[in-house]
Amino acid sequence: MSSDDSNDTDRELQQPHMAKRRKKSYQHKFCASWLKLPEFKSWLTETKKGSTFYHCEVCQEDHTGDISAVRKHFNSKQHIQGMKSIMNVLPINQVMQNSRIVNLDNLTKEAAIRV
Ligand SMILES: [Zn+2]
Repeated sequence: MSSDDSNDTDRELQQPHMAKRRKKSYQHKFCASWLKLPEFKSWLTETKKGSTFYHCEVCQEDHTGDISAVRKHFNSKQHIQGMKSIMNVLPINQVMQNSRIVNLDNLTKEAAIRV
């Protein structure tokens, strides 16, 4: 399932010597490009909670963190359990696609109302 998930990790690690322990001014932000990653796109969505959060459709939870945190979540017991229980009911693709569409639809509507 995670045959080629090393690309992004590599890219992150490659960043030469970005001063990691400077001040805590940097906040991890949700990145829309994560949604295109095959291992994330079935369950990862944005959330209205804020740009530093990501939403997991499987666990129905919002979390904060960068892509490594997302990966960690993807491999967490809770998430894997959630995936399993969904798969027991319906083919995973179907479930994920449906919930994704519904979710995005809601987001769009609500965004439109707010604006
Ligand atoms: Zn999850």
